Amino acid sequence: MTEPHAPTCAEIAELMPAYALEALAADERGHVAQHVRVCGPCRALLQEYADLAEGLLAAAPACAAPSHLEAALLRRLRAEPTRPPSPWWQRLAAWLPAPARPAAVLAAVLAVALVISNLGWARAASEWRAQQAALAASLQAQHLSMEMLAAGGQRVVLQGSAAPEASGEFYFTPDHRQAVLITADMPPLPAGMVYQLWLVTADGQRDNGGVFSVDAAGHGVLIVDAPHDLAAYARVGVTREPAGGSPAPTNPATINGPIS
Ligand SMILES: [Zn+2]
Repeated sequence: MTEPHAPTCAEIAELMPAYALEALAADERGHVAQHVRVCGPCRALLQEYADLAEGLLAAAPACAAPSHLEAALLRRLRAEPTRPPSPWWQRLAAWLPAPARPAAVLAAVLAVALVISNLGWARAASEWRAQQAALAASLQAQHLSMEMLAAGGQRVVLQGSAAPEASGEFYFTPDHRQAVLITADMPPLPAGMVYQLWLVTADGQRDNGGVFSVDAAGHGVLIVDAPHDLAAYARVGVTREPAGGSPAPTNPATINGPIS
């Protein structure tokens, strides 16, 4: 090595957990990337970290850590003045038994990272997954609604009642149970609430049509599997209900309209 301060394998190994979690500064990232290009054992170790990081990230729950825990951890990390300040993950790695398994090091680093960043990046990843799922659901709903129209189905517009600007499009075929609801401009939902679709018979019986949430623009989709053919119902309506839905509506309809 001609570089005067080329990092050693041990130094690189200290950076690896944070590297695998994409938590390193650019220069440190460069050191690791450069080293693993020429060092087979470190490359293998990094792959092990990367695989673990992927699995742990997928398993990370999307919930906020209690703030007192974060404060206590930060206090403890700040109270380690033995050496010139080094990144927190290196100090954490130093607490662990010397030949700690990559899984143990990474799990510990990840646990602290989750608390300190208040799940910033884990939440970003889970938000990304949620966006992908919402996009897929939206595309599926649009595809199904077009199929229904092509097969002679009907489209009715639901008007906002509790929220005048809100609207919905309900696609269905009277002699089938499947229907599609696409909403726009629905008011945002408070935490722990969902929208629930009600299928209402001519004599006022309300069947559950399923629950859904909406994005920031009030856009939501629901693919409905009704308990009866849609011809059994005279109206549909959407109410705000506690997460999981209610056995019967507990709020006035946000949007509703006749379907027969
Ligand atoms: Zn090495």
